[in-house]
Amino acid sequence: MAEFCTYCAPKMWGEEAIPEIDVVAISEALPQDSYSLVLCEGCGMAAIGKDDADTIFIAMPTGNTSENNKEVKWLTLDEYEKLPNTI
Ligand SMILES: [Zn+2]
Repeated sequence: MAEFCTYCAPKMWGEEAIPEIDVVAISEALPQDSYSLVLCEGCGMAAIGKDDADTIFIAMPTGNTSENNKEVKWLTLDEYEKLPNTI
């Protein structure tokens, strides 16, 4: 089943949509200095992470991918929100 993040679910299903990948809820549940793998079918975000200062980071694929090696770039939420829409 396709999963969509906090940002893509409303674009797909409208404002009432409940995202399968709730970025804030997932990041709040993370211990500091760790990350959780996700896969949003909309924007392609690959992981959600948090550093030891509680800053949330989003891993976005760089487009430089192969089957066993998926390169990502870690963005802060602010940087992520400034990305051009991918849907
Ligand atoms: Zn997304």
